[in-house]
Amino acid sequence: MSDQAFYSGLQAKLETLRNDGLFKPERVIASRQGAIVTAQDGRTLINMCANNYLGLSGDEQTSTAAAAALEKYGYGLSSVRFICGTQTVHKELEQKLSEFLGTEDTILYAAAFDANGGVFEPLFDENDAIISDALNHASIIDGVRLCKAARYRYANNDMADLEKQLIAATEAGKRHKIIVTDGVFSMDGTIAQLDKIVELAEKYGALTMIDESHASGFMGKTGRGTHEHCGVIGKIDIITGTLGKALGGAMGGFTSGRKEVIETLRQKSRPYLFSNTLAPMIAGASLSVLDRISKSTELRDRLHENTAYFRKEIERIGFTIKPGTHPVVPVMLFDAPIAQKFAARMFELGVLLSGFFYPVVPMGQARVRVQLSAAHTREQLDTVLKAFEQAGKELGILKNQ
Ligand SMILES: *Cc1c(COP(=O)(O)O)cnc(C)c1O
Repeated sequence: MSDQAFYSGLQAKLETLRNDGLFKPERVIASRQGAIVTAQDGRTLINMCANNYLGLSGDEQTSTAAAAALEKYGYGLSSVRFICGTQTVHKELEQKLSEFLGTEDTILYAAAFDANGGVFEPLFDENDAIISDALNHASIIDGVRLCKAARYRYANNDMADLEKQLIAATEAGKRHKIIVTDGVFSMDGTIAQLDKIVELAEKYGALTMIDESHASGFMGKTGRGTHEHCGVIGKIDIITGTLGKALGGAMGGFTSGRKEVIETLRQKSRPYLFSNTLAPMIAGASLSVLDRISKSTELRDRLHENTAYFRKEIERIGFTIKPGTHPVVPVMLFDAPIAQKFAARMFELGVLLSGFFYPVVPMGQARVRVQLSAAHTREQLDTVLKAFEQAGKELGILKNQ
């Protein structure tokens, strides 16, 4: 405690964040997660900013399954997987995830952040090339940094640029090349063009990896993910994803692919080797979630109905959205102060939303991001749309105003 300058330096940096409007306060929720949440002050809000796509986070069946696994397997294991932290429930979940994703084997992590952080370094070295979309998630960027492979970056979702980078890596004589992309980009709701990516990978002899955090459980006809949506099941080499969004929402991540890949990760991946096993109640609840969504597409269908309805109605009111079909709906306000005012006004009107502005999104692209859920009722969506209309009119930003 003798270096005062260290602490005053931090205080100054925090002050700058506050002054620049970049400080991220935490809203405190006093209830379960869901379409409706209770704020700390007792107000109820319609929640439009959770990654709770299937509505399973605060769901009773999910809690019951977790409680059953808690009872059977206990609270924790106080061990990494390879010492004494592997229970039957972990092996069952790995097998069920493989079946669900259409792969050979799956390895669990404490988070998708760890899955991405620990996937590159064991598999690739300085002779290899990682070709990564410019908007890939922070955990992919960090994972790539921990690996000695050469890095190539292509402009977001730009297939011509991807091909350019593939040619560059080939000309540099790289041994293995892997194309890495988010299956869905969470700021824009953009879906990666996996059919084209697979074609390019075949043309240049490259491997492919997708991060399915905003897709597993609801993209594609039966919710298997972006690879199902794009018709390339069985053609992606490595799939990473989270249990912390649609698939129950607690925490946990996974990497899935060919047996030899997963076995190598079990032997060499540092976040797996040196971090605790996934809590058994999460593994048990995740199994029940997979079982539920494998038996019926009801939740997934309701999510997509809600999404289509909201996208159509919000445009009719006079807002501009990024076109698409994903339940992430960026409502464009362009101007950062307006986005902030808008989100604050929506909060007063009882709607929980998050505003995004530079540097999280490009300058002049400020927005509020709406995320639909299977848990939202039509009535709740109509209430939210009314609030949008009112706040939009007050701020004078509707197209037909
Ligand atoms: C949320 C997210 C992650 C991190 O998932 P956690 O399981 O919460 O660590 C990784 N990648 C992408 C694309 C994400 O959206």
